[in-house]
Amino acid sequence: MKILLFDIDGTLLLTGGSGARAMTRAFYELFGVENGLQGITLSGMTDPIIFRNACIQAGIEPEENAHEQFKRLYLTYLKEEISKDHSQKRMLPGVKPLLQQLSQKPDIHLGLLTGNYQEGARIKLSHFDLDHFFGFGAYGDDHADRNRLVPVALQRFTEKTGFPPNGSTVWVIGDTPRDVACAKPYGAKTLAVATGHYDEKSLQNAEADVVVSDLADTEKILTVFENS
Ligand SMILES: [Mg+2]
Repeated sequence: MKILLFDIDGTLLLTGGSGARAMTRAFYELFGVENGLQGITLSGMTDPIIFRNACIQAGIEPEENAHEQFKRLYLTYLKEEISKDHSQKRMLPGVKPLLQQLSQKPDIHLGLLTGNYQEGARIKLSHFDLDHFFGFGAYGDDHADRNRLVPVALQRFTEKTGFPPNGSTVWVIGDTPRDVACAKPYGAKTLAVATGHYDEKSLQNAEADVVVSDLADTEKILTVFENS
């Protein structure tokens, strides 16, 4: 059995900056700080860490419920922002045919491993009609530290299917060295795709098991998973 855990942004889709714009609006509404996300690393980060880093940068010590308020505002604005036209908003090459093929295979289980809040993930994926491919997942709300998300995803897999993950091959598919790093402690394999902010060389340097320029070559990628 194979368990495939997909990242979202830069791996399956590009939101054309919708996520960053929605967070910037939420941050402004909450704290009155303009451009609060400027200079903050987004790629490969979890949403709670992005919030925390924006607070640190602005010199804000958030009150206890501020993160929940931020999240609620962000999700409201994300729905608005993602519905706007943007030249850089798109599903990445090969994603849909690959997910269609993988979802036909009884020994392959598709899940998510993403720094997005769960509801943010759903909003982004459903915009591209991709949410139905994923039966379970681990999200930024489960743990702010991405390196803790693989066990959460596997626990959700067991809850969903009744199968223990022991003996399965687990793959993490993502676009950043952080996706690769979060898999390693758990012995999960990594397929890194250079459709985000990192090129193939940086992903090779991060020691991904397999590096591809994009997910367009369905047959090649199916072979990678099937032979693992
Ligand atoms: Mg990503």
